[in-house]
Amino acid sequence: MAQQGFVAKEYIEAISPYVAGKPIEETAREYGLDPAKIVKLASNENPLGMPESAKKAMLQAASGAFRYPDGNARLLRAAVARFMGVDDSWVIAGNGSDEILGLVARLVLKPGTRCVYSQYSFSVYELSAQENGAECVQVPAKNFAVDLKAISEACQVPGTRLVFITNPNNPTGMVLSAQEIEDFIASVPSECLVVFDEAYSDYLPPEKRVDSMALVRKYPNVLVTRTFSKAYGLAGLRAGFAVARPALIEMINRIRPPFNMNFLAQAAAAGCIDDVEFLKHVYEVNRAGVEDLQSFFKAQGLEFIPTWANFILVKVGPKAAEINTELLKRGVIVRPVKSYGLPDWLRISVGSPSDNARFKEAFVESLRALDIE
Ligand SMILES: *Cc1c(COP(=O)(O)O)cnc(C)c1O
Repeated sequence: MAQQGFVAKEYIEAISPYVAGKPIEETAREYGLDPAKIVKLASNENPLGMPESAKKAMLQAASGAFRYPDGNARLLRAAVARFMGVDDSWVIAGNGSDEILGLVARLVLKPGTRCVYSQYSFSVYELSAQENGAECVQVPAKNFAVDLKAISEACQVPGTRLVFITNPNNPTGMVLSAQEIEDFIASVPSECLVVFDEAYSDYLPPEKRVDSMALVRKYPNVLVTRTFSKAYGLAGLRAGFAVARPALIEMINRIRPPFNMNFLAQAAAAGCIDDVEFLKHVYEVNRAGVEDLQSFFKAQGLEFIPTWANFILVKVGPKAAEINTELLKRGVIVRPVKSYGLPDWLRISVGSPSDNARFKEAFVESLRALDIE
């Protein structure tokens, strides 16, 4: 529309913006609530907050924030490389792993190319394909599970340049086995980049973890992304990273904004990457919360998908939007997933024991208020 004073690329005009979890302050204002009493279980944040190791590193660094950050995030990348068992040249740091997902898409996608991902997967994948004018190929899930066979077939079509795989998957919380993943990667043509998103891998029990670094070493078309936003509790700082062969990392660096990751985020992330004690605690608190919430949904007679992440997808029926509003009135924020094509479901992040208790109580009250059962 030239009368708007600009002409957007038509494939950008077609984008529907990302729907984030409702912020606490906004909810407090809209429902007249005390923000301190709101329980947010909408964005898979860590109910334990950030580890002391991150806080300490960030506070120590704070007064240095008048300088530009290290544009190459050397200290953080070295810490990540040590932790992941790769060379520094295999690591790129990002302003959240979202940034890296976007950069990778920009690197390989343009109009006329194809980007493949599963139905019920992270909406950022679709956005990153759309903003580059690529064809979005959403492969139907099979009973909610990622259909790797169908995805592999979609990747064989000439012009396919990018495929996203997530383990555990968001918003379903389902896992793939290491063997399935490797067989899939082996089947993808080498000119199609495989982004393996491990945002929630810290929540997997040891026997379900995938040796993703072995995959990166073996396949030049694989990039693994991780984040500090979930298990490490640094969502507000925006910190993530990816590991891939140096040739790919070097190419992404050409389009990376010069100071993409801020000073405090670099310090905090470097300070906590190897805080395995904290991670272990996070894992245990999360699994206990998963058991608690899943038992609750079972007792309520609700269908849910057994989860391997820090959130649970639960089918609450055609009144999901109303239930969501009732929960908001009671100061509990969860995530409606209508935009994921799941209008009858809600996604609940696993909170602390007291968060989960508040959720359960508010949920029962909400159903009662709506005369559901
Ligand atoms: C939360 C999430 C991310 C990470 O986002 P950040 O930008 O690192 O905060 C990546 N992938 C999936 C599937 C997620 O759910």
